[in-house]
Amino acid sequence: MGRKKQFKSESKRLLDLMVNSIYTHKEIFLRELVSNASDAIDKYYFENAGHVDTTSLQIRLTPNKDDRALTITDNGIGMTEKELEENLGTIAKSGSLAFKEEMDKKDKGENSDVDIIGQFGVGFYSAFMVAKDVTVISKSDAEETAHRWESKGDDGYTISEDPSTERGTKIILTLKDDTDQDQYSEYLETYTLENLIKKYSDYIRYPIKMEVETQ
Ligand code: ADP
Ligand code: MG
Repeated sequence: MGRKKQFKSESKRLLDLMVNSIYTHKEIFLRELVSNASDAIDKYYFENAGHVDTTSLQIRLTPNKDDRALTITDNGIGMTEKELEENLGTIAKSGSLAFKEEMDKKDKGENSDVDIIGQFGVGFYSAFMVAKDVTVISKSDAEETAHRWESKGDDGYTISEDPSTERGTKIILTLKDDTDQDQYSEYLETYTLENLIKKYSDYIRYPIKMEVETQ
């Protein structure tokens, strides 16, 4: 297990907002993670133009009720140790940055945090709306070894080596416990996942495959 590191301060607030979210459409986490998976496959495809077996490119959803875990896997570009650190330890760019700017405006009076979550691609950290533990296992062609990034949200993250050999990224969400307001275990149901994919990720051009649990 690697040394515990703290999130950069500008990330901290976005993260706290996600961890403690009372937002009612938490389901958008899946839209965000699937869009990241698709972006990663795009990057792999463009960096290796002409040398990619396009039929192998895909995103997989794997619910596991025993572990209360939902895994989103892609065979895109993957991340090196340094990229895991830079991309997941700080607010990267685009959607999340626009979101942060909006939150800063809000400090001057307008909007509420909850109103603005839905309007932006809030990105990777939205996973913390539904998960008490987020583990990212990633392997890039640029590095021999895969790495595992893990965080429970509030107290930083660790990065360590991982024995995986497949190129790409696996995001393992251990879902929060159900409450009267939020039934997180919903996200382990094939039916719910299929509907969310239809609702938010219909435009994704790579196949999204559901792995059915063997009972
Ligand atoms: P955005 O998608 O707007 O850049 P995110 O917060 O969604 O912001 O993601 C942050 C960054 O983390 C991405 O820009 C990308 O570099 C990296 N990342 C996230 N998910 C993946 C993935 N599945 N594969 C490779 N890189 C990823
Ligand atoms: Mg994103």
